[in-house]
Amino acid sequence: MAQIRVENLQKSFDQFTAVHGSNFTIDDGTFFAMLGPSGCGKTTTLRMIAGLELPTEGKILLDGEDVTFRRAAARDIAFVFQLFALYPHMNVAENIGFPLKCQGMGRSEIRQLVQETAKLLRIEHLLSSKTSKLSGGDRQRVALGRAMVRRPKAFLMDEPLGALDAEFRHLMCGELRDLHDRIGATTVYVTHDQLEAMSMADQIAVMNKGRVEQIGSPQEIYDRPASMFVADFIGSPPMNFLRFEGGLKSGDRTIDFHDARIAVPEIREDRASAPLAFGIRPEHIRFADTAAVRGEVFGAEYLGTTQIVTVDTAHGRLAARLPSSASVRIGERVGLEFRAERVSLFDVGSGLAIR
Ligand code: ATP
Repeated sequence: MAQIRVENLQKSFDQFTAVHGSNFTIDDGTFFAMLGPSGCGKTTTLRMIAGLELPTEGKILLDGEDVTFRRAAARDIAFVFQLFALYPHMNVAENIGFPLKCQGMGRSEIRQLVQETAKLLRIEHLLSSKTSKLSGGDRQRVALGRAMVRRPKAFLMDEPLGALDAEFRHLMCGELRDLHDRIGATTVYVTHDQLEAMSMADQIAVMNKGRVEQIGSPQEIYDRPASMFVADFIGSPPMNFLRFEGGLKSGDRTIDFHDARIAVPEIREDRASAPLAFGIRPEHIRFADTAAVRGEVFGAEYLGTTQIVTVDTAHGRLAARLPSSASVRIGERVGLEFRAERVSLFDVGSGLAIR
């Protein structure tokens, strides 16, 4: 098992910098997701950890040992490309044992390691089955078995569920997390899908344009986003933002927002009159007749237990998540109330959260 640490990790391709000096530590046994939109540098970071790409600058440490210039095969890390790609002409045992055969290991030793791996994955009964006969979940277990059989210190996975439909992907997320819990190996998992990252990871690194914007537990990232980018990328629909001028002093508990007074959390340092914004997630908005921010209901999207109601205000369109039992009429004038302790504050210029 392994701790993975990257220090000032950078990668440039000619003039273009794909990763700008990342620093983070992945503790032993952690399920760590790298999450961000296409092109933000997730795969490049993962490939550097694997040893498939050389950093332009910076270091990679495995259990405190500098492995930056160590070749991939000598890093003791399994890179899982595609969880469903199996050798069709081999049975399950042969698929799992293949990496050991390539290493030139003896038959009886391979047999034993394959047995142990299959036991851990609860697929001992399938060892002589043809892979074409397996269910999706079992195929995934076999592919993982093939990666696990060499007892790597860590698993690196790049969008392993990307090709699956949504329902099956959800099922596989549960399987993968369960396996992680049983094996306990450090896992680094790249995805652009927030639901995958939120449902599986202990820690998430949210990346944007080659930079890590925030690292935290799913709850920290959701509840206390470090930037407007993170607040917007996580959550569906995303956080609503409303700009205001006039600055904010430490100790202030309210802001004057046009004709309304909005309760906000206290901040530590004064902020001058730079454009600021407050953010509120759709589920933290309530309809209240007496509320001073008012608008007209534009639409309602029924989602079963909840509905997403969009409201046009003088300051932009906001989305509110309400119980689907709430009666809402299109065109109706409503007041919007925000839960103060759930309001986030941001500096619009830098995009960073103000605490
Ligand atoms: P995706 O989910 O689309 O793979 P990503 O977040 O994994 O996105 P990367 O694949 O790491 O992003 O790519 C980051 C940036 O680096 C992209 O703009 C990509 O075009 C660029 N890039 C990656 N590899 C190379 C390369 N070998 N040569 C030039 N540019 C590259």
